[in-house]
Amino acid sequence: MDKPKAVIIGAGFTGCATAHDLALRGFDVTVVERGPIANGTSGRTHGLLHSGGRYAVDDQESAVECIEENLLLRGLVAECLEQNGGLFVALDESDLEYARRWVQSCERCNIPVEQVDVKQALAWEPNLTSKILAAYTVPDATFDPLRLALTFAATAQTNGARFRLFTEVEGLIERNGAIRGVRCQERTTGKSSELYADCVINATGAWAGKIAQMAGDATIVVKPTPGVMVAYDQRLCNRVINRLNEPGDGDIIVPQRRMVVIGTTSFEVDEVDYIPVFEDQVQMMRECAIQLIPAVAATRQRGAFMAARPLIGSSASGRSIARTFKCFDHQETHGIGGLVTITGGKATTLRAMAEKTADTVCAKLGITAPCQTREYPLRSYREFRGSDAYQ
Ligand SMILES: Cc1cc2nc3c(=O)[nH]c(=O)nc-3n(C[C@H](O)[C@H](O)[C@H](O)COP(=O)(O)OP(=O)(O)OC[C@H]3O[C@@H](n4cnc5c(N)ncnc54)[C@H](O)[C@@H]3O)c2cc1C
Repeated sequence: MDKPKAVIIGAGFTGCATAHDLALRGFDVTVVERGPIANGTSGRTHGLLHSGGRYAVDDQESAVECIEENLLLRGLVAECLEQNGGLFVALDESDLEYARRWVQSCERCNIPVEQVDVKQALAWEPNLTSKILAAYTVPDATFDPLRLALTFAATAQTNGARFRLFTEVEGLIERNGAIRGVRCQERTTGKSSELYADCVINATGAWAGKIAQMAGDATIVVKPTPGVMVAYDQRLCNRVINRLNEPGDGDIIVPQRRMVVIGTTSFEVDEVDYIPVFEDQVQMMRECAIQLIPAVAATRQRGAFMAARPLIGSSASGRSIARTFKCFDHQETHGIGGLVTITGGKATTLRAMAEKTADTVCAKLGITAPCQTREYPLRSYREFRGSDAYQ
């Protein structure tokens, strides 16, 4: 019997993890990506494997998703991670007031936090400001974004998935009220082609609203919400340093190899492809980071970059939008078959997002195939062979 066919649009974390899940469930999978692997937001994150602490007070659904996936990914993608831990630190009375609610919320979300003596925190992280009033450990870790995406892509490819890189989806093929494939163009040669599928999966992150509109569905509102990150040319901490208060600008410092990355801001845009890096935001983040690690002031800025969060639209805006993910079956939202959109979420929840998407696709097609990605060992990121040739 022929395998069911799935075409996935987008090879960010979500598309690569979904390719892995569907390949294991017996699908013939093709991923179409207009750039290289991790071309979009996935290639430009802080690389923080969230403990969930950041969301524990105001967004508990996301916090629980983060801690559950954080613990699972430690075993699955150890090659992509530095299991360095994190600290939440209080600098003033407002932070101390927040700490009481935060500790209780972390307990409710099963996030293991432990208060440590300020002297101990400073011994671990001598560049931290000596003004800290309280410190708590959390199971944060850091990941290499490209390796993380390639690990899932390599495993999917080993299990038969094809990756058409530098190939842009320009339209959807519709027959009798259902999406049956994609029309695409190879960006290097200009060659056009069509790919047919039993189900098309829209995993285009901040671009997901545009693909949904190709199917005439304007009900999926994705709010591209960019943030600016600034890299400094010294590894000024070994753990992830988080300011212990409501999530805000410049309140995370993430060590990445021999640098630190300060993040991030949050604002909304309509056009995702050309988002500028605003100098006033870079300066503001530097000032926030100096409050946590004064040595930032004397450290050379290595670069500033930005990416857009694919947040699911609602009447809320910016930081008040939940960081959880959602999978849409367009049969339900717009009466059109053959198309599923997955968006929202975080890098930390890529596997769970893929599981939810593959469950939705299987249910649509009447296929019974359990998810295996919680235990299935992943291949090395080094095994990804690059773009597959057209047949
Ligand atoms: C500033 C910032 C910092 C972040 N830091 C963290 C962090 O530290 N930890 C964490 O867990 N999460 C973090 N996140 C969130 C996380 O990075 C995103 O949730 C995740 O990368 C989204 O992945 P995705 O695959 O859904 O989207 P993307 O990575 O954007 O992938 C979508 C892909 O679709 C492709 N595409 C679009 N249109 C088409 C088309 N027409 N044809 C073919 N391909 C197309 C794009 O090229 C892109 O590669 C951060 C987000 C931001 C904005």
